[in-house]
Amino acid sequence: MSADKLVDYDEVLTRYEPLIGLETHVELGTASKMFCGCSTVFGAEPNTQTCPVCLGLPGALPVANEAAIEATIRIGLALGCRIATWCRFARKNYFYPDIPKGFQTSQYDEPLCTAGHLDVEVDGETYRVEIERVHLEEDTGKNLHVGGATGRIHGADHSLVDYNRAGIPLVEIVTRPIPGAGAKAPEVARAYVTELREIVKTLGVSDVKMEQGSLRCDVNLSLAPVGGLEWGTRTETKNVNSLRSVERSVRYEMRRQAAVLDDGLRIVQETRHFHEDTGSTSSGRSKEEATDYRYFPEPDLVPLAPDEEWVAKLAATLPELPAARRVRLSEEWGLSATEMAWLLNAGALDLVGDTVAAGAPPADARKWWLGELARRANDAGVELPELAVTPGQVAELVGLVAAGTINDQLARQVLDGVLAGEGDPAAVVESRGLAVMGESDELVAAVDAAIAGAPDVVAKVQGGKVQALGALVGAVMKTTRGKADAATVKRMLEERLL
Ligand SMILES: [Zn+2]
Repeated sequence: MSADKLVDYDEVLTRYEPLIGLETHVELGTASKMFCGCSTVFGAEPNTQTCPVCLGLPGALPVANEAAIEATIRIGLALGCRIATWCRFARKNYFYPDIPKGFQTSQYDEPLCTAGHLDVEVDGETYRVEIERVHLEEDTGKNLHVGGATGRIHGADHSLVDYNRAGIPLVEIVTRPIPGAGAKAPEVARAYVTELREIVKTLGVSDVKMEQGSLRCDVNLSLAPVGGLEWGTRTETKNVNSLRSVERSVRYEMRRQAAVLDDGLRIVQETRHFHEDTGSTSSGRSKEEATDYRYFPEPDLVPLAPDEEWVAKLAATLPELPAARRVRLSEEWGLSATEMAWLLNAGALDLVGDTVAAGAPPADARKWWLGELARRANDAGVELPELAVTPGQVAELVGLVAAGTINDQLARQVLDGVLAGEGDPAAVVESRGLAVMGESDELVAAVDAAIAGAPDVVAKVQGGKVQALGALVGAVMKTTRGKADAATVKRMLEERLL
């Protein structure tokens, strides 16, 4: 859809250095909105969760939500920020239908948290991302454009507005420009958002669902000539809604901007839209300057002055953060950096952790999640956590194998049953009759039949080629549909032939 000229990615890097910056909005999971008591539940009938305050009716007065302030401070602390001892909300004035008050209550020159950092790792290298600020504001409502093909305003014949989202607490986390990422800029941007999402999830202050918009990302990018002293004009790609899109949007803008600069033209300072389908960006509106918003301190709210003791208490009760947890688990499970990276890339860290917590040895938990289960998720085209099997069930499966009730091959059949919704592993073993056979009449008959059916193999074994036994073991396993224990079968064959 895009007619943009693009420079080959590797070629971009021969002439330009990328500078990325990220602004991330996190919708907090508080029960009520930022300045009123309205519910924040997602998916309710449009305009059923509103009141005079969040609709901006004359005379309505806001009161700040303490839980939202606490959540913002906890995010700030987790990012190593300084927490302001005194700060104010500010009005960001602009007219847009989804903003009923005619201004957004935000923070301007007095953010709640400043000067933090987050270290992210890409291909074994650590990049420090400086956090400029973490501030608290309110979300806007949602416009719905009706009649157009794409849901966008172009071609629509009318628009509807849902104010249920208006006033939901929103935390904005702004990085300083991140230099030095070079060719890895797209991956660094993605790694940063991934790590930030993990942190916010660990803090339990938001469900961080990018697809529902509770975590949204704006990606800033500019280029400078290699060795040049000044950074070029930046563009801001708005509301990039998946981790993969963060990476793709950086890559695309690098290639597009390089082509513009190569032609001797200027980059226009503007917001751009990212298109999931093509991986391209298109021009949005020209970017406003802060002065366009006529910020001024919010007169209807008292300043925020977090008590030192309160902040100290919040700092002391932060949960173990993802980076520390990874270090601890690597040690406990005896994993190399590469093995930990595999676990993370597969999205299996929590699953393996929960499986270990349910009693499975780490090596077995990893084997099942990264092996058989990863294969099945891949075949089904879903992510690992979406498989219909719980860590508790995997731990039970591992336990059944360890106890000799089933072997690995039978365990795979047990998984078929669990994934088909037939119940827990032990129940599937019972209902499908999958337990390993003891030295039963059935097994004796199968062993005798294997010997009788392959006189040539028997002759080889008895002639000294003991490894030929394998063929007979295989035959027995086949007749018993994998339910025999291979070691038992081998011993029975040896008793009869050697
Ligand atoms: Zn309200």
